[in-house]
Amino acid sequence: MAGKNVVLFGPPGAGKGTQAVKLKDLLNVPHVSTGDMFRENIKNNTELGPTAKEYSNSGRLVPDEVTIAMVKDRLGRDDMKGGFLLDGFPRSVPQAEALDKILAELGIKLNHVVNIAVADDEVKARLAKRAEIEGRADDADPKVIENRLNTYKNQSEPCLSYYRPQNIVRDIDGIGTIDEIFGRIQKVFA
Ligand code: AMP
Repeated sequence: MAGKNVVLFGPPGAGKGTQAVKLKDLLNVPHVSTGDMFRENIKNNTELGPTAKEYSNSGRLVPDEVTIAMVKDRLGRDDMKGGFLLDGFPRSVPQAEALDKILAELGIKLNHVVNIAVADDEVKARLAKRAEIEGRADDADPKVIENRLNTYKNQSEPCLSYYRPQNIVRDIDGIGTIDEIFGRIQKVFA
């Protein structure tokens, strides 16, 4: 199997979380989701909680100094040595640069950026549906959805141009059933 140091990438609502759960089982690596980490901090009312809540509820990125420090701490732990599945990070070019630096310090190379591609209209429809099902505060308000999409376009999507010259971006068609999409992802690791 090819290397297991993986970033899962895609717009909000692309199904990253759903696919991450399946992929981390396939690869047998820890799933590191920055969105989940922020939600945990909010739920447990940690020092970071109010900042995470303020930004995530408005569809903006939590400031880099907070996010990068959190990821650096997590990637430095021993359980990362056999690989990892990063979900929701990096979400900006400065974060991608910071990740390169963190990994270089750890002597690790990123092997794949699995990019789940979904068109804007489909993303909007999915986020509205998820708001009904999960009751996530950041899915409920159309204005917040718009902000999250703009954040993705302006800040996150440029990460793909950052990674393409390294030949590690694996583009996956994100339209289809959960199993169809997972089947496409599996081929990357076959
Ligand atoms: P997610 O569950 O990945 O959609 O993340 C939910 C929210 O957490 C995002 O809308 C951001 O406010 C915040 N967040 C998650 N990952 C990051 C990141 N890498 N950088 C900054 N903010 C993030």
